[in-house]
Amino acid sequence: MTKLKYILLLLSILGICYLYADIPLVLTPDGIQKTLPVVKLEEKDYVSLDEINARLCSIYKVEYSEYTDFRVMFFFYGEQFIFLLNSPFYTFKQSVFNMQYPLLQVGANYYVPTTFIMDNLPLHFPGQIQNKKGTLYLPQPKDKSVKRIVIDPGHGGKDPGAVGPNGTRESMINLNVALRLKHLLEQELGLEVLMTRTDDRFVSLGDRTKFANDNKADLFISIHTNASRTNGAQGIETYYLSTKSTTESRAVEALENSVVELYEGAGAKQKYEALDFILMDMLQTEHLEHSNDLATLVQHNLVAGVQAKNRGVKQANFYVLRGAFMPAILIEMGFISNPEEEALLANPQYQDRLAQAIFESIKRFKYNYDRIRLTS
Ligand SMILES: [Zn+2]
Repeated sequence: MTKLKYILLLLSILGICYLYADIPLVLTPDGIQKTLPVVKLEEKDYVSLDEINARLCSIYKVEYSEYTDFRVMFFFYGEQFIFLLNSPFYTFKQSVFNMQYPLLQVGANYYVPTTFIMDNLPLHFPGQIQNKKGTLYLPQPKDKSVKRIVIDPGHGGKDPGAVGPNGTRESMINLNVALRLKHLLEQELGLEVLMTRTDDRFVSLGDRTKFANDNKADLFISIHTNASRTNGAQGIETYYLSTKSTTESRAVEALENSVVELYEGAGAKQKYEALDFILMDMLQTEHLEHSNDLATLVQHNLVAGVQAKNRGVKQANFYVLRGAFMPAILIEMGFISNPEEEALLANPQYQDRLAQAIFESIKRFKYNYDRIRLTS
């Protein structure tokens, strides 16, 4: 046999072994079949946590402190596992278990031995997860994680929003940052991002919220720039909904809500005011706490990311946030009425930094929120 033939034969045998080593999954009760790829690490069979996440809606987070070394918090079927890097021991429901081989890291990926999947998981979920002759039967996981985000670039078309002293239109800044944010969320997190507008067109405030509800968005992010009669006003503030506004937030609320009177015609204001009863809806109030969390993260990251003045997280009664049945925030990225901030806001590099900071906040929020939703 020539050397080449020998190598080809060896490769095909390896290929077959590799194929057979993958773990077949059956999701009950529908019998959906999936395969969990197995890799050889230190001559043992391993599965990457990312591959498990992709198939079984789990998530994990790596934590490090000088006291605990690297810990991997793994959330799976509503329960938490705590792994230690390079250790076969892990914690589950306050007890320590052994999965025979250590948790390993290769590059940015973390791997558990297949013994954890095939032997330990069925013990932790008796009656739910079963290993029947090398095929793992698991309940169809409920994916309650953040998957779809609606980004709402404020204003557009006949409504330019606030206009800066040098003629910069708010509607264009909002759109530019929104498009950058969309790109980051899609590329880096693989999320589905829908936009209330992708060009310079008019969309009513009610249609923006309706769009988010109709598409069952998990988050609603409305992007704006601020304006004030005092042209020294500067900085960033992030809002979520309230029916009770503070005096300070009322000015911004009036600014953003005035679109209705200016561009949506007679009777539109009454229509939005009548939406008040929806605010009482439990569906919406349960999202206020998460809206606050998201607003807090966004505010913190934006201020740190672009070194702007911190005007804080605020609540106001924005029409565009009313009736949104998901965590919803409105970001005022700076004052277009302030010539210095106007110049910054119009700068493409600055817009990139704004988008990056909002992206980092959503990423962080998604982890926390997914964990809560997957473990409750
Ligand atoms: Zn605006």
